[in-house]
Amino acid sequence: MPEDLKTAQLALYGGSPVRSELLPYGRHHIDDDDVAAVTRVLRSDWLTGGPMVGEFETAFARAVGAAEAVAVSNGTAALHAAMFAIGVGPGDEVIVPPMTFAASANAAVYQGGTPVFADVDPGTLLIDPAQVAAKITPRTKAIVAVDYAGQPCDYDALRRVLAGRGEIKIVADACHALGARERDRPVGTLADLNVFSLHPVKHVTTGEGGVITTEDPALATRMRMFRNHGITVDDRQRGAKASWIYEIVELGYNYRLTDVQCALGISQLGKLAGSIARRRAIADEYGRAFASIPEVRPLAVRPGATHAYHLYVVRLDLPRLSADRATLFAALRRENIGVNVHYIPVHYHPFYRRRFGFGPGLCPVAEAAYEQILTLPMFPTMTGRDVQDVVDALAKVVEAFRHEDGAARRR
Ligand SMILES: *Cc1c(COP(=O)(O)O)cnc(C)c1O
Repeated sequence: MPEDLKTAQLALYGGSPVRSELLPYGRHHIDDDDVAAVTRVLRSDWLTGGPMVGEFETAFARAVGAAEAVAVSNGTAALHAAMFAIGVGPGDEVIVPPMTFAASANAAVYQGGTPVFADVDPGTLLIDPAQVAAKITPRTKAIVAVDYAGQPCDYDALRRVLAGRGEIKIVADACHALGARERDRPVGTLADLNVFSLHPVKHVTTGEGGVITTEDPALATRMRMFRNHGITVDDRQRGAKASWIYEIVELGYNYRLTDVQCALGISQLGKLAGSIARRRAIADEYGRAFASIPEVRPLAVRPGATHAYHLYVVRLDLPRLSADRATLFAALRRENIGVNVHYIPVHYHPFYRRRFGFGPGLCPVAEAAYEQILTLPMFPTMTGRDVQDVVDALAKVVEAFRHEDGAARRR
Protein backbone atom coordinates (compact mmCIF):
# COMPACT_ATOMS: atom_id res chain seq x y z
CA MET A 1 0.00 0.00 0.00
CA PRO A 2 1.46 3.43 -0.88
CA GLU A 3 2.49 5.62 2.00
CA ASP A 4 -0.29 8.21 1.52
CA LEU A 5 -3.03 5.56 1.76
CA LYS A 6 -1.61 4.31 5.04
CA THR A 7 -1.36 7.80 6.50
CA ALA A 8 -4.97 8.47 5.42
CA GLN A 9 -6.07 5.73 7.83
CA LEU A 10 -4.57 7.59 10.78
CA ALA A 11 -7.07 9.32 13.06
CA LEU A 12 -4.78 12.34 12.74
CA TYR A 13 -5.85 12.61 9.08
CA GLY A 14 -9.51 11.66 9.47
CA GLY A 15 -9.29 7.86 9.80
CA SER A 16 -10.98 6.01 12.65
CA PRO A 17 -9.00 5.76 15.90
CA VAL A 18 -7.75 2.47 17.37
CA ARG A 19 -9.99 3.05 20.39
CA SER A 20 -12.95 5.31 21.07
CA GLU A 21 -11.90 6.66 24.48
CA LEU A 22 -8.58 8.07 25.65
CA LEU A 23 -6.40 5.59 27.55
CA PRO A 24 -4.44 7.68 30.10
CA TYR A 25 -0.72 7.07 30.71
CA GLY A 26 -1.31 6.48 34.40
CA ARG A 27 -4.24 6.03 36.73
CA HIS A 28 -4.86 5.41 40.42
CA HIS A 29 -6.89 2.49 41.74
CA ILE A 30 -9.13 2.90 44.81
CA ASP A 31 -11.20 -0.06 46.03
CA ASP A 32 -13.86 -0.57 48.73
CA ASP A 33 -11.25 -1.42 51.39
CA ASP A 34 -9.57 1.94 50.77
CA VAL A 35 -12.90 3.76 51.09
CA ALA A 36 -13.75 1.89 54.31
CA ALA A 37 -10.33 2.70 55.83
CA VAL A 38 -10.77 6.40 55.10
CA THR A 39 -14.34 6.43 56.41
CA ARG A 40 -13.26 4.90 59.73
CA VAL A 41 -10.75 7.71 60.29
CA LEU A 42 -13.25 10.39 59.25
CA ARG A 43 -15.46 9.22 62.14
CA SER A 44 -12.55 9.09 64.64
CA ASP A 45 -11.06 11.69 67.01
CA TRP A 46 -8.01 12.50 64.90
CA LEU A 47 -8.14 13.84 61.35
CA THR A 48 -4.49 14.93 61.50
CA GLY A 49 -1.63 14.54 63.96
CA GLY A 50 -3.13 11.31 65.29
CA PRO A 51 -2.22 7.65 65.55
CA MET A 52 -2.56 6.76 61.85
CA VAL A 53 0.57 8.73 60.99
CA GLY A 54 2.83 6.51 63.06
CA GLU A 55 0.98 3.41 61.89
CA PHE A 56 1.48 4.39 58.26
CA GLU A 57 5.16 5.15 58.86
CA THR A 58 5.64 1.73 60.46
CA ALA A 59 3.81 -0.01 57.61
CA PHE A 60 5.81 1.87 54.97
CA ALA A 61 9.14 1.20 56.66
CA ARG A 62 8.24 -2.50 56.86
CA ALA A 63 7.14 -2.58 53.19
CA VAL A 64 10.58 -1.43 52.01
CA GLY A 65 12.65 -2.99 54.80
CA ALA A 66 13.87 0.37 56.14
CA ALA A 67 14.46 1.30 59.79
CA GLU A 68 12.57 4.60 59.62
CA ALA A 69 9.90 6.17 57.42
CA VAL A 70 8.79 9.80 57.76
CA ALA A 71 5.46 10.80 56.19
CA VAL A 72 5.05 14.29 54.73
CA SER A 73 2.49 16.17 52.64
CA ASN A 74 3.91 15.37 49.17
CA GLY A 75 6.98 14.07 47.36
CA THR A 76 8.37 17.56 46.83
CA ALA A 77 8.13 18.27 50.58
CA ALA A 78 9.91 14.93 51.11
CA LEU A 79 12.78 16.07 48.88
CA HIS A 80 12.87 19.41 50.72
CA ALA A 81 12.95 17.64 54.10
CA ALA A 82 15.81 15.46 52.83
CA MET A 83 17.82 18.52 51.75
CA PHE A 84 17.17 20.12 55.16
CA ALA A 85 18.07 16.98 57.10
CA ILE A 86 21.49 16.62 55.50
CA GLY A 87 22.18 20.32 55.94
CA VAL A 88 22.15 21.67 52.37
CA GLY A 89 22.55 25.44 52.54
CA PRO A 90 23.74 28.47 50.55
CA GLY A 91 26.93 27.74 48.61
CA ASP A 92 26.39 23.98 48.64
CA GLU A 93 26.20 22.09 45.36
CA VAL A 94 23.80 19.22 44.79
CA ILE A 95 24.41 16.96 41.80
CA VAL A 96 21.21 15.93 40.04
CA PRO A 97 20.29 14.44 36.63
CA PRO A 98 18.37 16.59 34.12
CA MET A 99 16.05 13.72 33.11
CA THR A 100 13.58 14.13 35.98
CA PHE A 101 10.69 16.14 37.31
CA ALA A 102 11.95 19.58 38.32
CA ALA A 103 11.19 18.98 42.02
CA SER A 104 14.33 16.79 42.24
CA ALA A 105 16.42 19.92 41.61
CA ASN A 106 14.06 22.53 43.08
CA ALA A 107 14.48 21.05 46.58
CA ALA A 108 18.16 22.01 46.66
CA VAL A 109 17.25 25.51 45.49
CA TYR A 110 14.65 25.85 48.31
CA GLN A 111 17.55 25.48 50.77
CA GLY A 112 19.73 27.99 48.94
CA GLY A 113 21.83 25.29 47.27
CA THR A 114 22.99 25.16 43.66
CA PRO A 115 21.93 22.30 41.41
CA VAL A 116 24.72 20.84 39.27
CA PHE A 117 23.43 18.71 36.40
CA ALA A 118 25.24 15.45 35.63
CA ASP A 119 24.27 13.67 32.42
CA VAL A 120 22.57 10.29 32.19
CA ASP A 121 23.43 6.89 30.76
CA PRO A 122 22.11 6.62 27.17
CA GLY A 123 20.67 3.12 27.69
CA THR A 124 18.78 3.56 30.95
CA LEU A 125 18.58 7.38 31.30
CA LEU A 126 19.74 6.92 34.92
CA ILE A 127 22.40 9.30 36.28
CA ASP A 128 25.82 8.22 34.97
CA PRO A 129 28.33 7.67 37.81
CA ALA A 130 31.21 8.77 35.55
CA GLN A 131 29.42 12.06 34.87
CA VAL A 132 28.86 12.47 38.61
CA ALA A 133 32.59 11.96 39.22
CA ALA A 134 33.34 14.76 36.75
CA LYS A 135 31.00 17.19 38.55
CA ILE A 136 32.23 16.73 42.14
CA THR A 137 33.87 19.83 43.69
CA PRO A 138 34.85 20.71 47.28
CA ARG A 139 31.36 22.29 47.57
CA THR A 140 29.43 19.13 46.65
CA LYS A 141 27.10 18.33 49.52
CA ALA A 142 24.85 15.68 48.05
CA ILE A 143 23.73 13.73 45.02
CA VAL A 144 20.06 13.34 44.22
CA ALA A 145 19.92 10.16 42.13
CA VAL A 146 16.62 9.62 40.36
CA ASP A 147 15.34 6.07 39.92
CA TYR A 148 13.97 7.09 36.54
CA ALA A 149 10.91 5.19 35.26
CA GLY A 150 11.14 2.78 38.21
CA GLN A 151 14.52 1.08 38.23
CA PRO A 152 17.17 1.87 40.84
CA CYS A 153 20.32 3.80 39.93
CA ASP A 154 23.65 2.04 40.35
CA TYR A 155 24.15 3.09 43.98
CA ASP A 156 27.19 0.85 44.43
CA ALA A 157 28.92 2.63 41.55
CA LEU A 158 27.87 6.02 42.94
CA ARG A 159 29.36 5.09 46.32
CA ARG A 160 32.63 4.04 44.66
CA VAL A 161 32.77 7.40 42.88
CA LEU A 162 32.26 9.24 46.20
CA ALA A 163 34.77 7.19 48.20
CA GLY A 164 37.45 9.47 49.63
CA ARG A 165 35.75 12.65 48.35
CA GLY A 166 34.46 13.88 51.74
CA GLU A 167 31.04 13.74 53.39
CA ILE A 168 28.76 13.63 50.34
CA LYS A 169 25.29 12.21 51.02
CA ILE A 170 23.29 10.20 48.52
CA VAL A 171 19.58 10.94 48.30
CA ALA A 172 17.49 8.61 46.15
CA ASP A 173 14.58 10.30 44.42
CA ALA A 174 12.72 6.99 44.37
CA CYS A 175 9.35 8.56 43.50
CA HIS A 176 9.12 6.19 40.51
CA ALA A 177 10.52 3.12 42.20
CA LEU A 178 8.47 2.00 45.21
CA GLY A 179 8.54 -1.81 45.03
CA ALA A 180 11.73 -1.98 42.94
CA ARG A 181 14.89 -3.82 44.03
CA GLU A 182 18.61 -4.07 43.43
CA ARG A 183 19.09 -7.86 43.57
CA ASP A 184 17.61 -8.68 47.02
CA ARG A 185 17.88 -5.12 48.40
CA PRO A 186 14.66 -3.07 48.15
CA VAL A 187 14.54 0.52 46.95
CA GLY A 188 14.10 2.50 50.15
CA THR A 189 17.29 1.08 51.67
CA LEU A 190 19.81 1.85 48.91
CA ALA A 191 20.68 5.50 49.71
CA ASP A 192 21.20 7.60 52.86
CA LEU A 193 17.74 9.07 52.36
CA ASN A 194 15.12 7.63 50.00
CA VAL A 195 12.26 9.80 48.82
CA PHE A 196 8.82 8.65 47.64
CA SER A 197 5.73 10.39 46.28
CA LEU A 198 2.16 9.28 46.96
CA HIS A 199 0.62 11.24 44.08
CA PRO A 200 -2.22 9.39 42.27
CA VAL A 201 -0.04 8.43 39.27
CA LYS A 202 2.53 6.75 41.55
CA HIS A 203 2.41 3.15 42.86
CA VAL A 204 0.62 3.92 46.12
CA THR A 205 -1.46 7.04 46.65
CA THR A 206 -2.81 9.19 49.48
CA GLY A 207 -4.10 11.87 47.08
CA GLU A 208 -1.04 13.96 47.85
CA GLY A 209 1.70 12.58 50.05
CA GLY A 210 5.35 11.78 50.42
CA VAL A 211 7.68 9.58 52.50
CA ILE A 212 11.39 9.56 53.28
CA THR A 213 13.02 6.34 54.48
CA THR A 214 16.38 6.08 56.23
CA GLU A 215 18.43 3.86 58.49
CA ASP A 216 19.49 6.91 60.54
CA PRO A 217 17.10 7.73 63.43
CA ALA A 218 18.70 11.17 63.95
CA LEU A 219 17.88 12.18 60.37
CA ALA A 220 14.33 10.86 60.82
CA THR A 221 13.90 12.98 63.97
CA ARG A 222 15.12 16.08 62.12
CA MET A 223 12.63 15.49 59.31
CA ARG A 224 9.72 14.94 61.74
CA MET A 225 10.57 18.30 63.31
CA PHE A 226 10.92 19.95 59.88
CA ARG A 227 7.45 18.82 58.78
CA ASN A 228 5.91 20.37 61.90
CA HIS A 229 7.20 23.98 61.82
CA GLY A 230 10.53 23.03 63.40
CA ILE A 231 8.78 22.26 66.70
CA THR A 232 10.35 19.64 68.94
CA VAL A 233 7.14 18.07 70.29
CA ASP A 234 3.89 17.42 68.44
CA ASP A 235 0.31 18.14 69.60
CA ARG A 236 -0.32 14.70 71.00
CA GLN A 237 2.91 14.67 73.01
CA ARG A 238 1.99 18.09 74.45
CA GLY A 239 -1.54 16.92 75.23
CA ALA A 240 -0.17 13.88 77.05
CA LYS A 241 2.11 16.08 79.16
CA ALA A 242 -0.68 18.65 79.83
CA SER A 243 1.69 21.46 78.86
CA TRP A 244 1.44 24.52 76.63
CA ILE A 245 5.20 24.69 76.08
CA TYR A 246 6.66 24.19 72.64
CA GLU A 247 9.81 25.52 71.01
CA ILE A 248 10.62 26.36 67.42
CA VAL A 249 14.21 25.21 67.17
CA GLU A 250 14.61 25.34 63.36
CA LEU A 251 12.76 26.99 60.50
CA GLY A 252 10.32 24.25 59.56
CA TYR A 253 7.16 24.10 57.49
CA ASN A 254 3.70 22.62 57.74
CA TYR A 255 4.40 19.51 55.68
CA ARG A 256 2.21 17.14 57.71
CA LEU A 257 0.28 14.25 56.18
CA THR A 258 -3.23 13.82 57.63
CA ASP A 259 -4.57 10.74 59.42
CA VAL A 260 -7.20 10.45 56.68
CA GLN A 261 -4.45 10.17 54.07
CA CYS A 262 -2.35 7.82 56.20
CA ALA A 263 -5.30 5.43 56.54
CA LEU A 264 -5.61 5.40 52.75
CA GLY A 265 -1.85 4.85 52.49
CA ILE A 266 -1.91 1.80 54.80
CA SER A 267 -4.75 0.27 52.80
CA GLN A 268 -2.99 1.01 49.50
CA LEU A 269 0.31 -0.50 50.68
CA GLY A 270 -1.44 -3.85 51.06
CA LYS A 271 -1.95 -3.92 47.29
CA LEU A 272 1.57 -2.87 46.29
CA ALA A 273 2.96 -6.33 45.50
CA GLY A 274 0.02 -7.19 43.26
CA SER A 275 0.14 -3.92 41.37
CA ILE A 276 3.91 -4.20 40.75
CA ALA A 277 3.39 -7.73 39.43
CA ARG A 278 0.74 -6.44 37.01
CA ARG A 279 3.00 -3.57 35.85
CA ARG A 280 5.80 -6.05 35.18
CA ALA A 281 3.45 -8.32 33.21
CA ILE A 282 2.35 -5.35 31.08
CA ALA A 283 6.01 -4.43 30.50
CA ASP A 284 6.69 -8.01 29.37
CA GLU A 285 3.78 -7.83 26.91
CA TYR A 286 5.05 -4.53 25.53
CA GLY A 287 8.57 -5.91 25.25
CA ARG A 288 7.40 -8.95 23.27
CA ALA A 289 5.30 -6.82 20.92
CA PHE A 290 8.00 -4.22 20.25
CA ALA A 291 10.55 -6.90 19.42
CA SER A 292 8.85 -6.94 15.99
CA ILE A 293 8.60 -3.13 15.64
CA PRO A 294 12.28 -2.13 15.35
CA GLU A 295 11.49 1.62 15.32
CA VAL A 296 10.20 1.32 18.92
CA ARG A 297 12.97 0.57 21.42
CA PRO A 298 12.26 0.06 25.12
CA LEU A 299 14.85 1.54 27.51
CA ALA A 300 17.51 -0.79 28.89
CA VAL A 301 17.10 -2.46 32.29
CA ARG A 302 20.25 -2.71 34.44
CA PRO A 303 21.38 -6.26 35.26
CA GLY A 304 20.33 -7.05 38.82
CA ALA A 305 17.59 -4.42 38.87
CA THR A 306 13.98 -5.38 39.46
CA HIS A 307 11.99 -2.65 37.73
CA ALA A 308 8.82 -1.18 39.30
CA TYR A 309 7.62 0.34 35.99
CA HIS A 310 6.09 3.58 37.15
CA LEU A 311 6.66 4.60 33.53
CA TYR A 312 7.14 2.56 30.38
CA VAL A 313 9.41 4.66 28.17
CA VAL A 314 10.45 3.87 24.61
CA ARG A 315 12.86 5.58 22.25
CA LEU A 316 11.71 6.15 18.69
CA ASP A 317 14.24 5.40 15.97
CA LEU A 318 13.43 8.66 14.17
CA PRO A 319 15.87 8.32 11.24
CA ARG A 320 13.82 5.30 10.09
CA LEU A 321 10.61 7.35 10.13
CA SER A 322 9.33 10.18 7.97
CA ALA A 323 7.73 12.08 10.86
CA ASP A 324 9.18 13.83 13.89
CA ARG A 325 8.35 12.99 17.50
CA ALA A 326 5.75 15.77 17.75
CA THR A 327 3.82 14.34 14.79
CA LEU A 328 4.05 10.77 16.14
CA PHE A 329 2.90 12.04 19.55
CA ALA A 330 -0.08 13.85 18.01
CA ALA A 331 -0.93 10.83 15.84
CA LEU A 332 -0.97 8.50 18.89
CA ARG A 333 -3.08 10.91 20.91
CA ARG A 334 -5.60 11.02 18.06
CA GLU A 335 -5.69 7.20 18.16
CA ASN A 336 -6.76 7.82 21.81
CA ILE A 337 -3.54 6.53 23.31
CA GLY A 338 -2.52 8.88 26.15
CA VAL A 339 1.20 9.02 25.40
CA ASN A 340 3.36 11.48 27.30
CA VAL A 341 6.97 12.68 27.46
CA HIS A 342 9.05 12.31 30.65
CA TYR A 343 10.86 14.70 30.83
CA ILE A 344 11.78 18.05 29.39
CA PRO A 345 15.38 18.32 30.71
CA VAL A 346 15.21 20.40 33.90
CA HIS A 347 17.95 22.80 32.75
CA TYR A 348 15.77 23.80 29.75
CA HIS A 349 13.18 25.46 31.99
CA PRO A 350 13.18 29.28 31.97
CA PHE A 351 13.74 29.49 35.74
CA TYR A 352 16.92 27.41 35.52
CA ARG A 353 18.20 29.35 32.49
CA ARG A 354 17.55 32.69 34.20
CA ARG A 355 18.77 31.86 37.72
CA PHE A 356 21.76 29.67 36.89
CA GLY A 357 22.52 30.46 33.24
CA PHE A 358 21.88 26.87 32.15
CA GLY A 359 20.60 25.89 28.70
CA PRO A 360 20.98 23.44 25.84
CA GLY A 361 24.42 21.83 25.49
CA LEU A 362 24.86 21.14 29.21
CA CYS A 363 23.86 17.45 29.12
CA PRO A 364 23.98 16.14 25.53
CA VAL A 365 22.85 12.56 26.30
CA ALA A 366 19.68 13.66 28.11
CA GLU A 367 19.02 16.31 25.48
CA ALA A 368 19.26 13.82 22.60
CA ALA A 369 17.07 11.33 24.49
CA TYR A 370 14.47 14.03 25.11
CA GLU A 371 13.94 14.37 21.33
CA GLN A 372 13.20 10.63 20.98
CA ILE A 373 11.34 9.40 24.07
CA LEU A 374 7.70 8.58 24.49
CA THR A 375 5.94 7.35 27.63
CA LEU A 376 3.28 4.72 26.97
CA PRO A 377 0.25 4.00 29.18
CA MET A 378 1.18 1.89 32.23
CA PHE A 379 -1.06 1.29 35.24
CA PRO A 380 -2.16 -1.90 37.03
CA THR A 381 -5.83 -1.85 36.03
CA MET A 382 -5.00 -1.76 32.30
CA THR A 383 -6.70 -4.70 30.60
CA GLY A 384 -5.16 -7.00 28.03
CA ARG A 385 -7.30 -5.15 25.46
CA ASP A 386 -5.84 -1.78 26.58
CA VAL A 387 -2.30 -3.12 26.17
CA GLN A 388 -3.15 -4.48 22.73
CA ASP A 389 -4.65 -1.10 21.73
CA VAL A 390 -1.35 0.61 22.58
CA VAL A 391 0.60 -1.93 20.54
CA ASP A 392 -1.85 -1.71 17.62
CA ALA A 393 -1.74 2.09 17.62
CA LEU A 394 2.07 2.15 17.64
CA ALA A 395 2.20 -0.42 14.84
CA LYS A 396 -0.34 1.60 12.83
CA VAL A 397 1.46 4.93 13.29
CA VAL A 398 4.95 3.51 12.68
CA GLU A 399 3.72 1.67 9.59
CA ALA A 400 2.22 4.88 8.21
CA PHE A 401 5.46 6.83 8.62
CA ARG A 402 7.99 4.08 7.87
CA HIS A 403 10.31 4.86 4.96
CA GLU A 404 9.41 2.62 2.02
CA ASP A 405 12.94 1.29 1.51
CA GLY A 406 13.45 0.82 5.25
CA ALA A 407 16.62 2.91 5.08
CA ALA A 408 17.44 5.95 7.15
CA ARG A 409 16.77 9.01 5.02
CA ARG A 410 16.96 11.83 7.49
CA ARG A 411 19.48 12.89 10.14
C1 LIG B 1 6.21 12.68 41.39
C2 LIG B 1 7.64 13.08 41.50
C3 LIG B 1 8.12 14.04 42.42
C4 LIG B 1 7.22 14.93 43.22
O1 LIG B 1 6.25 14.33 43.93
P1 LIG B 1 4.93 15.13 44.36
O2 LIG B 1 4.30 14.20 45.32
O3 LIG B 1 4.13 15.36 43.12
O4 LIG B 1 5.38 16.41 44.98
C5 LIG B 1 9.48 14.23 42.52
N1 LIG B 1 10.36 13.56 41.75
C6 LIG B 1 9.94 12.67 40.83
C7 LIG B 1 10.95 11.96 40.01
C8 LIG B 1 8.57 12.42 40.67
O5 LIG B 1 8.16 11.56 39.73
